[in-house]
Amino acid sequence: MVGEQIVGRRVKDERVLAAMRKIPRHEFLPEALRGMAYADNALPLGEGQTMSQPYMVALMTELLGLKGPERVLEIGTGSGYQAAVLAELCGKVYTVERIKSLADKARATLDRLGYKSVAIKMYDGTYGWKEMAPFDAIMVTAGSPDIPAPLVEQLKEGGRMVIPVGERYGQELITVVKTAEGIVTSRSIPCVFVPLIGNHGWKE
Ligand code: SAH
Repeated sequence: MVGEQIVGRRVKDERVLAAMRKIPRHEFLPEALRGMAYADNALPLGEGQTMSQPYMVALMTELLGLKGPERVLEIGTGSGYQAAVLAELCGKVYTVERIKSLADKARATLDRLGYKSVAIKMYDGTYGWKEMAPFDAIMVTAGSPDIPAPLVEQLKEGGRMVIPVGERYGQELITVVKTAEGIVTSRSIPCVFVPLIGNHGWKE
């Protein structure tokens, strides 16, 4: 998976590659889908939600440029797989999920695999996680119509956010850097994520 799908598409951060070689992706999937865990595509994880393609996980993680000590906020816990990748690369992960059954299942999987540095909250993640802010980096793993203002507020100056922004059924991956003068955005690749549903996202 890592060699063909990720290195082959020019993801270079060795720490990201090592994390993805280490983590058992199949453990995050429903039993019936485990045979497809290392395939080159997104997979259903339950409740109509999807776990991103491995390449997308790698690219988004690389774009955050994590070095080790950071506190990172993820919006859209889903299976917990991306949170595990982040946990291998930073000091502490805070992840928010709006669907309780997914948050519970992710908690159980992360506990089973020993990921103690991941905190999960069930809430509308378009509000971020105010009590734990500010964050060195933020990753949004659902597609948003805009960049939610609370997330920009909760990002440290100099911090980075990656977020798919665009239409309901097609977005572009955007990197946001927060500077003293405001935010600087750059565009990466086209992508398709399930919708970010919430007060600062899509209405249900
Ligand atoms: N990162 C996940 C995949 C996420 S799929 C993984 O590695 O498996 C997108 C997730 O975002 C879904 O679980 C969906 O329920 C969740 N989501 C959508 N809108 C949200 C919101 N406003 N707050 C928190 N989670 C949200």
